[in-house]
Amino acid sequence: MLYQIARKTVEPLSALLDSIGIDDAYAFSKKLFAPQISIFVYHRVGPQLHDWLYRSVNEYIFEKQIQWLKSTHTIISLEELVDLIRENKQPGGNVAVITFDDGYKDNYLYAFPILKKYQVPATVFLTTGCIDQRKLLWGDALDYIVLTTAADTIEHDLLGTIPIKSRKEKSSALFEIKQNIMKKIPNMQKVRLLEDLERELGVEIPEHPGDGIMLSWEEVRKMREGGILFGAHTVTHPILSNATFKEAKFEIEQSKHRIEAELGEQITTFAYPNGKPADINADTIGLLKQNNFTCAVTTLPTKINHNSDLLGLGRITTTNNYSLFKFLASGLYSDGIHLIGFHEPGCNQISGDH
Ligand SMILES: [Zn+2]
Repeated sequence: MLYQIARKTVEPLSALLDSIGIDDAYAFSKKLFAPQISIFVYHRVGPQLHDWLYRSVNEYIFEKQIQWLKSTHTIISLEELVDLIRENKQPGGNVAVITFDDGYKDNYLYAFPILKKYQVPATVFLTTGCIDQRKLLWGDALDYIVLTTAADTIEHDLLGTIPIKSRKEKSSALFEIKQNIMKKIPNMQKVRLLEDLERELGVEIPEHPGDGIMLSWEEVRKMREGGILFGAHTVTHPILSNATFKEAKFEIEQSKHRIEAELGEQITTFAYPNGKPADINADTIGLLKQNNFTCAVTTLPTKINHNSDLLGLGRITTTNNYSLFKFLASGLYSDGIHLIGFHEPGCNQISGDH
């Protein structure tokens, strides 16, 4: 609900501000007088492949966003940002870092050529189990099950009875199941619930549903040769605070080791699945330290400066709406809500991304 109110207010406002050039002017003034450091997170970039698949940032919009960031920011790699913070340096102008979560194939097909064209560094955080087993992320698998089933009701002990006849009912069922149940229950219970739904809704997920959707290791190596950096994002994308210590240890260590084995280099950056404060606990941080991760990124748009905690760097979630992207990226949104003393909702709540 908060997201709907926020989006209804912010979308037209951002379009208006963009139309009169305020975002550009604001980003330019920040560059001169109060430089800001921002990390951006993308998921999918490219055309919409399937009705059931989480929507992406269109490749033309992505290119415009990169062009705009190049004109208002210096785009550096995440590793360079780590050095900047470690050396306690203030940036000379606005600084941006580009990241991608999960490891979708469209990062290779559509984003990589644009990043090469503009010579922009980026880090892709890989969910290694989805690459190894050519599987979908659990959230995408849930979307596939609910959006493609012929059943018109979900009946389940944990969920009760939920109507899923229309697309609208399916969308609200998905929101409820994903955000309010699956992201809050113990990881193993979530895995079982997904299996129950697949069986009870009569949906057969193809043997290798990740084919055509998730990256292959060959594509990862080609991107690495082209200058893209990689970080770990676990094996199966659990909410780490819902996982047992043993599960979390496996998820963190195994994802790091798999990428290191494929690329033959040390992996030192990490992105928390879902990335909100409730998704991270002391065990998670301890495991990252034990495994020599030098930085970890969240999905909370907290401001970054030379004092920032390297294991909790905030990111701005991007959006397919170009005006809204500029509103978020220029600093207008975060400075505006700070100014009026309003509680800062996640950018996810504004952009509508998950
Ligand atoms: Zn993710």
